[in-house]
Amino acid sequence: MTHVGKCFCGAVEVAVTGSPVAMGYCHCSSCRSWSAAPVNAFTLWKPEDVRVTKGAEHVATFQKTKMSQRQYCKTCGGHVMTSHPTLGLIDVYAATIPTQPFKPGVHVNYAETVLRMKDGLPKLKDFPAEFGGSGEAIAE
Ligand SMILES: [Zn+2]
Ligand SMILES: [Zn+2]
Repeated sequence: MTHVGKCFCGAVEVAVTGSPVAMGYCHCSSCRSWSAAPVNAFTLWKPEDVRVTKGAEHVATFQKTKMSQRQYCKTCGGHVMTSHPTLGLIDVYAATIPTQPFKPGVHVNYAETVLRMKDGLPKLKDFPAEFGGSGEAIAE
């Protein structure tokens, strides 16, 4: 199954194939600042399952930390995805690929939340242990 998404203006198209490795919500201050939203709904993919299918020349990257290469459209400023080279995964924002069913499994960086979401899903203080975090769960 392939899902195609696009940036705000449509100049950039991205396709994801198969199934995401993980889906959920990130509450960290970087995600909030970059997305201009109280929470980032993420879908994480293996790099080989993500392709820019149109407008690659419009894609620019901003890298603040070695963990995240944030990719956006130079034409509209719309955010497309973030590559996490140290994890070997790419976050294609759930909002970018609306036809991909969003089935969140976890909340990460919940210690930084500004929007509590009482949905019964696990709330991790920071990242899962396998992603270099504490793996510690905290109260909703
Ligand atoms: Zn655009
Ligand atoms: Zn985040």
